[in-house]
Amino acid sequence: MAATKDDNFILISEVGPRDGLQNIKQIMPTEAKKRWIAALAAAGVKEIEVGSFVPAKILPQLADTAEIVEFARTIPGIEIAVLVPNVRGAENAIKAGAHKITIPLSVSETHSLKNVNRTHAQMLEAVKTIAEMVQQVSEEDRPSFEGGLSTAFGCTIEGHVPEKKVLSLAEALMEAGCDEVGLSDTTGYANPAQVKTLLRETRRVVGAENCTGVHLHNTRGLGLANALAALEEGATTIDASQGGLGGCPFAPGASGNIVTEDLAFMLEAMGYNTGIDLDALMACRSILTDSIPGVELFGFTPDAGLPLGFAKRQAEAA
Ligand code: ZN
Repeated sequence: MAATKDDNFILISEVGPRDGLQNIKQIMPTEAKKRWIAALAAAGVKEIEVGSFVPAKILPQLADTAEIVEFARTIPGIEIAVLVPNVRGAENAIKAGAHKITIPLSVSETHSLKNVNRTHAQMLEAVKTIAEMVQQVSEEDRPSFEGGLSTAFGCTIEGHVPEKKVLSLAEALMEAGCDEVGLSDTTGYANPAQVKTLLRETRRVVGAENCTGVHLHNTRGLGLANALAALEEGATTIDASQGGLGGCPFAPGASGNIVTEDLAFMLEAMGYNTGIDLDALMACRSILTDSIPGVELFGFTPDAGLPLGFAKRQAEAA
């Protein structure tokens, strides 16, 4: 997201169209995705991860990512983010005109081998190649390039992930040409104390301005607590998904990512500015219930509604 003069601004990066949809069996029709993304943008969401450039046979839910990026580019005022697993994906992302490209690097090498069949050294080679490709794009069209440190807080295969491994890979990603790195709690293992320490240390190692975002899951109910911990350490971008879409196959009843509606409510109630109109955001849920019926949506704020007088105070503050 372009720099804002508003010191109180926190960027909520909506990852539902990518992280949410890739974790449900149903395939959301392309036209519904477009309606959803347009409605989110109209509600004031400023960054949306709209898909992932992976082969359709691996994730058929995201097979239309190029078309979705092309559509999203027609919406003014949003940052269009995509995930890429490799060089080929990055080529497609650049061709489609994404504004932000994130490549995940699993801190757990076992996870990396299982997921993308690549060692750390191979992944860092790919990062270098992608960084060179990105540099060849003319400056006004050049996407930003982020390295996402997944399994940074723990791994379902390796268990504990040592902090020094996270830090050395964060440095390696920056050396390989990333513009920034982010910390991902892929597995929902993080706790607030750990978020604070790891974010602080990572920012110390790569420079605070090069590590501003966290990607959190709510697998064990600590998502918002972890988000608050990240805020207190200076994070200014927090990923979330509408309705906590995606769920968690290992923890029935748990949402996937932290719920955008609850995060936006927490931030706005605390006096931060997210640019989001909460009523308009919550109204976007109907697009999900209509287009992927039966998929469970999470969130407390949508059920409880906003506190009396909240919307009016929010409007006055804006
Ligand atoms: Zn995730």
